[in-house]
Amino acid sequence: MSLEQSPPDGFLEDAAHYPGGHAAGVVFPRTPGEIADALRSAAAVLPIGAQSSLTGGATPMGELVLATTKMTQVIDRSAHQVTVQAGLTIAAMQETLAAAGGWFPPTPTFAGACAGGVVSTNAAGAATFKYGSTREWVDGLVVVLADGTILDLKRGEHRAHNGSIDVLTATGRISIPVPGYVMPNVSKRSAGYHAAPEMDLVDLFIGAEGTLGVIAEVTFRVLSPVPQSALALIPCRSEPQALELVMALRRASLDTWRTKNRCGIDVAAIENMDARSIAILREDAADARNDVSFPDDLAVVLLVQLELPPELTPTDAYDQIGGALTPGAADSALVRFCRMLAERDLLDTTELAMPGDRRRAEQLIAIREAVPAGVNRRVGIAKRDIHPGIAKTAADMVVPIERFAEMMEIYRQGFQGRQLDYAIWGHISDGNVHPNVIPRSYEDIERGKDAILEFGRAAARLGGCPLAEHGVGRNPIKQQLLRQLYGEEGIAEMREVKRALDPEWKLSPGVIFSSS
Ligand SMILES: Cc1cc2nc3c(=O)[nH]c(=O)nc-3n(C[C@H](O)[C@H](O)[C@H](O)COP(=O)(O)OP(=O)(O)OC[C@H]3O[C@@H](n4cnc5c(N)ncnc54)[C@H](O)[C@@H]3O)c2cc1C
Repeated sequence: MSLEQSPPDGFLEDAAHYPGGHAAGVVFPRTPGEIADALRSAAAVLPIGAQSSLTGGATPMGELVLATTKMTQVIDRSAHQVTVQAGLTIAAMQETLAAAGGWFPPTPTFAGACAGGVVSTNAAGAATFKYGSTREWVDGLVVVLADGTILDLKRGEHRAHNGSIDVLTATGRISIPVPGYVMPNVSKRSAGYHAAPEMDLVDLFIGAEGTLGVIAEVTFRVLSPVPQSALALIPCRSEPQALELVMALRRASLDTWRTKNRCGIDVAAIENMDARSIAILREDAADARNDVSFPDDLAVVLLVQLELPPELTPTDAYDQIGGALTPGAADSALVRFCRMLAERDLLDTTELAMPGDRRRAEQLIAIREAVPAGVNRRVGIAKRDIHPGIAKTAADMVVPIERFAEMMEIYRQGFQGRQLDYAIWGHISDGNVHPNVIPRSYEDIERGKDAILEFGRAAARLGGCPLAEHGVGRNPIKQQLLRQLYGEEGIAEMREVKRALDPEWKLSPGVIFSSS
């Protein structure tokens, strides 16, 4: 085989630091044909992108690692679409698009992730509230099946009919059964196989975490022009106050999109950090480092990403803010936003980064990113100093926004009832947060897992999904959350889907569910 190969060192773990990674070797295909060669020659294959998976799904357990690192071409580009190879990073794709004034909206926080990886996990960024998750932006895929068959799929070409999706390939007909479970109706979901009565075959491979086929190429829908954004870091005095503001901003934005009002508030994303997250920022001096001073009476910090008309100049933006509270100020999105904050007595303590003020925007984003970094560092220290079995113990759950306050109460009671230290932050505009244990002993990890399983049952009961954006991977708790969500029957239906496309169980064995 002419495929480039190397020993597996450097590819044995993903960002979850899942233990025990080992591999038969690594291959670096450059084309769908070379992917097919690799699949035909190996007993088991694990496709990987940037290995930024937070679930162990990109950690090999004896398979041949199929690294897409060399598949970085932009194949085709138009005003509305871009077709790229699977190994192109989202950051590189954004750069290419920006040169022509376009952009790809559902970017995950980690823009070093690859096209194939974000599709395989149905990744979602902070801006899901406005733009949805990756799924809504995929128009087509080139997928290589476990037996080397190459499928060139366009959305709309293969739809489910009478409980199955039929595909005619060069070697015969494949009939894929559609599972009968009902997926939670929420804005983001990365919880096993997509299933709906008239579903598209493209949707089956999105979020399948590499278990059904290797994605070689992706056609994404893109937008232009790139919008101007302002960021606002808003310290709130209580959780009810923060949630009331989130709901008001969501309502105003939905109204703006419906009426296409150019003066309306247009929010793409709202992130939240709870009181413990803020304490971590202070302990780590992340506030001082980023030139932010929080008031003392503080329960939640929100980070709002506000989209503004492309023609607004920085000077106009500053003028609008300066005059927002004066009677007779001209109507604009910024004026409305400032008034909304002033009505709640929040304007004076809000930190703003105006369009074009890149340095301030980076500082405000750094504040948000310092929270997971601070928690991960504390977990690492506890693992080193207290017990080697200590690991990140965190949930990634979404509920309909109307049930968010209820779910937050469940997170708090669940952790406090088990005497756990914890922090909660995330994408509040979607009702999606990441409750994290801050471990002080190995027992905290066991109690934390128990709490997470309880949260998963509650999220499902409230109409949400216990696996929102990171996927399932090899993580035993996430696999258990998936079983809780769809039951053993649902997992058995997923196994039937896998059997139809990968009867020898060659692709990513043990990811999402076990073979038996
Ligand atoms: C700092 C940080 C921030 C993050 N923020 C977000 C966020 O905001 N939103 C979010 O959704 N996720 C987030 N993640 C998780 C992760 O970045 C995403 O899941 C990302 O989409 C994974 O892309 P990747 O290229 O790293 O894939 P990998 O980690 O390499 O792989 C992920 C999964 O996809 C499969 N896979 C990869 N490439 C292919 C392919 N070509 N064909 C078939 N299967 C393939 C792998 O087998 C694995 O199961 C974050 C992770 C980190 C470390």
